[in-house]
Amino acid sequence: MLNIVLFGPPGAGKGTQSARLIEHYGLVHLSTGDLLRSEISAGTELGMKAKSLMDAGILVPDEVVIGMIDNKLSQNPESKGFIFDGFPRTIPQAEALDKLMESRSISISGMIALEVEEKELISRLLIRGQSSGRPDDQNEELIAQRVKEYNTKTAPVASYYKGQDKFHSVYGIGDIDQIFSELCRVMDSLS
Ligand code: ADP
Repeated sequence: MLNIVLFGPPGAGKGTQSARLIEHYGLVHLSTGDLLRSEISAGTELGMKAKSLMDAGILVPDEVVIGMIDNKLSQNPESKGFIFDGFPRTIPQAEALDKLMESRSISISGMIALEVEEKELISRLLIRGQSSGRPDDQNEELIAQRVKEYNTKTAPVASYYKGQDKFHSVYGIGDIDQIFSELCRVMDSLS
């Protein structure tokens, strides 16, 4: 089984590369951002609560995303593996993920971080906002708020995986195909 945490700041390209990786390796994509956005479109109570936080560029509570991941793991018992995208985003989420995996006798194979400089992230997200209509991609202050959440709460998650000797990184600026082959090279070294 190949269970990968794809890591990186907002706009690093996790969504784009996940789509290619799941196709290439036959894995299940678990994006907490996508799962939360489907709750919002379905108009659920959870979605309503999450929306105001997401629109403000603030992380939703740990137990909300941990519960969603738990459900998705249970719904895919036969999977060849999972790509976690946008999760874990805090140390408690990383610890909870280890427990969820352990209770199913599986484990994280590795974390791969997409490294992109802050200036590039902001311009990518503003461009994405024009076509996606995502409310959190619409203005520079909101994007800066998300990058701040990332730097304070999420960046430390890399050290958590470094401590387990599971951290790898790939430079995320340049040709999309080239970045994809770099990711595949790391993925193949983990399988
Ligand atoms: P991006 O990585 O571009 O910010 P996502 O779609 O991953 O986009 O996340 C959008 C928003 O959803 C985040 O700003 C946050 O409010 C919420 N969110 C997504 N995943 C998590 C998570 N694991 N923990 C807490 N909040 C999350």
